[in-house]
Amino acid sequence: MNVYDSQRMADLAALEGFEEAAAVEDADLIVLNTCHIREKASEKIYSELGKLRDLKDERRKAGRPTTLVVAGCLAQAEGAEILRRQPAVDVVVGPQSYHRLPELLRKAEVRSGVIDTDFPVEEKFSRLPASRPEATAKRGVAAFVTVQEGCDKFCSFCVVPYTRGAEASRPVGAVLDEIGRLTSAGVREVMLIGQNVNAYHGLDRAGRTTDLAGLIAAAAAVPGICRLRYATSHPNDMSEDLVAAHRDIETLAPHLHLPVQSGSDRILASMNRRHCVADYLDIVARARAARPDIAFSSDFIVGYPGETEADFEATLDLVRAVGYASSYAFKYSARPGTPAAEMYGQVDEVVKVARLARLQALLEEQRRAFNGACVSRRLEVLFERPGRHEGQVVGRSPYMQAVYAEGPLSFVGALAEVEIIGVGPNSLRGRVVSPTS
Ligand code: SF4
Repeated sequence: MNVYDSQRMADLAALEGFEEAAAVEDADLIVLNTCHIREKASEKIYSELGKLRDLKDERRKAGRPTTLVVAGCLAQAEGAEILRRQPAVDVVVGPQSYHRLPELLRKAEVRSGVIDTDFPVEEKFSRLPASRPEATAKRGVAAFVTVQEGCDKFCSFCVVPYTRGAEASRPVGAVLDEIGRLTSAGVREVMLIGQNVNAYHGLDRAGRTTDLAGLIAAAAAVPGICRLRYATSHPNDMSEDLVAAHRDIETLAPHLHLPVQSGSDRILASMNRRHCVADYLDIVARARAARPDIAFSSDFIVGYPGETEADFEATLDLVRAVGYASSYAFKYSARPGTPAAEMYGQVDEVVKVARLARLQALLEEQRRAFNGACVSRRLEVLFERPGRHEGQVVGRSPYMQAVYAEGPLSFVGALAEVEIIGVGPNSLRGRVVSPTS
């Protein structure tokens, strides 16, 4: 989502006459768009801001003023603290108010230290300018479109409800218009994104509430779209209609990123995930019944407060039961202000490291097995860019794997049927059987 937000901020800056600079040293305006999910985010940002303060000083001495903006979830979480710790910052803007960037920049011309950390989500989407076709064309054939933001789930470990605010969905028409502009600029694949994307509940042009399955069906009808994806989903919002969309909508990729976080019901309850392991496995079974070739990926947290060896073993059991194509696993780390940060039973770091290594080894084994099983299969690949070697093009399979194949540059932007002939550490090799479009 930060990639999408950064592009939209670039669109806003373009309206103010800015062009994208080739190097940070050449930039009159620098926006750090921050994430707060990973550990030590604030330390990294303050260290980066120290370097940018020095750059700003050098440029000022050379008569080239610089405006320094901190945006994103860390800006939302830290607010005025950023200005206190680094006075060289001119503007602090949260993820739900960056549509006001032009007016904030104007305010920063007359006074230093402008802050905006409001939550006007609907206002943001209605006021953002249309994405620039020339910028979109440069960005390639696959694009993100934010359809939903914020989250009401309040998982005990997560900062998102505090930094992105309550769930809000964009209207169907606005999403379709944006997808239409993207396809006109050459985009073929769109990933519909939201912190809790399958909680989507936007209004259509007739004022009726539409769920994510309805939005996907409408997006699939936009001329030029050849592949749709969505992320990230919560198990509790996997409706029957959404499962059926994987059966009925040809352009919807057979890939579902469905975070589970833990395979222990006790830990899931403590995380306030509001579902149990059986619920999750039931969704996996229903999705596989609807679309037998569907692949799964997930997110896992190990070493959550109170996690015992038995809880961790239950996570390994769940991974073995599902069989993932790829996944992300992290050690639990406390986020200030979240309930889990204050919980009794914080797990020793040595234990967390050991559990993470065991889980990652199993997930890696499954990833390799999944990739290996693709050999000799024919997959639809959307070619996105030239490869490192001449005469080579690179694209993505329906399962997000990078696929390299011999082919002319004219294949970029085309969907092709590709026979998989080999597996590398992080990619597949294929032979184009027939360009399909
Ligand atoms: S559903 Fe996802 S975004 Fe929402 S609180 Fe839980 S982990 Fe965070």
